[in-house]
Amino acid sequence: MSYNICEYKNCERGKWKEDKEHCIFHSKKCKEKKEEFKNQILKEFKEQQNDLNKETISLEGFIFPEFDFLSNEKISKPISFSNAEFYKKVDLKGTTFCNEVDFSYVKFFDGINCRETNFLKEVSFPWAKFSGTAFFFRHKIF
Ligand SMILES: [Zn+2]
Repeated sequence: MSYNICEYKNCERGKWKEDKEHCIFHSKKCKEKKEEFKNQILKEFKEQQNDLNKETISLEGFIFPEFDFLSNEKISKPISFSNAEFYKKVDLKGTTFCNEVDFSYVKFFDGINCRETNFLKEVSFPWAKFSGTAFFFRHKIF
């Protein structure tokens, strides 16, 4: 095992250059990583979405300085945000989740916007902590 590997459980990514313990996704250095994270998260999401060997998109334990990269996206696979932390409002405007969405144990520090969000399968928020405003207005659960 290399000491250059992220210390988050089962994460095999390399450590982020500005963090002694974690990769850019698991790093708690929100302010410092914000800009770079923005590009990396979109890349990571697309890679997992297009990876035929991966059944579930796993963004587990990710620390999100902000969250708007999924607006108007259509996500065909199940996706897990389990244990993730969201420091700015989670914007899911116009997002369509075709499969299960897992928000278990997540922390929303600035609420979540689910306006015009489509959950075609189950979405679960067990033990999620909310601060800020949560909008569940005009979303559809079938
Ligand atoms: Zn990691």
